[in-house]
Amino acid sequence: FSKEIDQLKVEDVSTLDGEKINLHVNIGGDIEIEQLKEFKCDGIGLLRTEFIYMENDKFPSEDEQIKMYEKVYSALPENKPLIIRTLDIGGDKKLGYYDMPHEENPFLGFRAIRFCLENLDIFKTQLRAILRAGYNKNIKIMYPMISKVEEVVRANTILEEVKKELEIEKLNYKKDIEVGIMIEIPSAAIMAERYVEYVDFFSIGTNDLTQYVLAADRLNKLVSNIYDPYDIAILNLINHVSEIGKKYNKKVSVCGEMAGEPIAIILLIALGIKDLSMLPSFIPRAKKIIKSIDLKEIKKYKEKILKAKNSQEIKKLITKLLIGVV
Ligand code: PEP
Ligand code: MG
Repeated sequence: FSKEIDQLKVEDVSTLDGEKINLHVNIGGDIEIEQLKEFKCDGIGLLRTEFIYMENDKFPSEDEQIKMYEKVYSALPENKPLIIRTLDIGGDKKLGYYDMPHEENPFLGFRAIRFCLENLDIFKTQLRAILRAGYNKNIKIMYPMISKVEEVVRANTILEEVKKELEIEKLNYKKDIEVGIMIEIPSAAIMAERYVEYVDFFSIGTNDLTQYVLAADRLNKLVSNIYDPYDIAILNLINHVSEIGKKYNKKVSVCGEMAGEPIAIILLIALGIKDLSMLPSFIPRAKKIIKSIDLKEIKKYKEKILKAKNSQEIKKLITKLLIGVV
């Protein structure tokens, strides 16, 4: 069995009917950067840059960030994409060297892009670092916690300002960098169509999307029975975003924790998702599942999933398909 895992780590896989499902990894620290070299994948779907800020004793400089982004990129197979998510601080993530305002509901508060748009020096330093590290590389940028179109427009305006500055300074940078947003707040999922003209891709963050759709704190054990990424409301929303992506030819990936779970892999593929991003250690099992499924067969389950009574019914349905696979 362990020999099979070793083989799967480095294998390139497709479905029985020859379709490619892209398997990306989520990186949130040094351990995963190390693991990257071991597990062959199709890129980094989510670089959680918070760890660079949290491990430091002050806001990391432009050069420190460039070094880190280059280090992460060099651990990837050649020319595979690296999606760098801009700082998602706040919520449960604090910095030792910065006093965040006290908030009654930090998860509904001053977090991620909201913080960055009010702290332009910090935001611009990161954008400069990403643009410069991206020169001649397959690096993309992604904004977290988007709840309104105006936030994307404003972030993109700042990105253009930063490009102009780099131009004046005659520094090399990635001029045609692709920009994406996390879909992790219900308003963005519902109104996904309004965002297509401002972005190149979407990435669905089911960890936060689940907590905001169901109003159940992702860290609170008292409501962990309500916090359920397989809830029919979540799956119908994912399907909605997936259909918008298809209609406008924008890539839609899923980078929440569920993307690495066997049942979710089948489910998400049935809903038209072809890009999954997960912890590196989940990659072999995901490959095993992909190798064993027929995409056309799986897609037949879409309506059943969307019309199911509840998540138990969906899980039962999908578990049957997984018998003998994992
Ligand atoms: C998510 O919310 O699903 C996500 C991937 O982001 P994070 O877990 O870092 O909040
Ligand atoms: Mg999130």
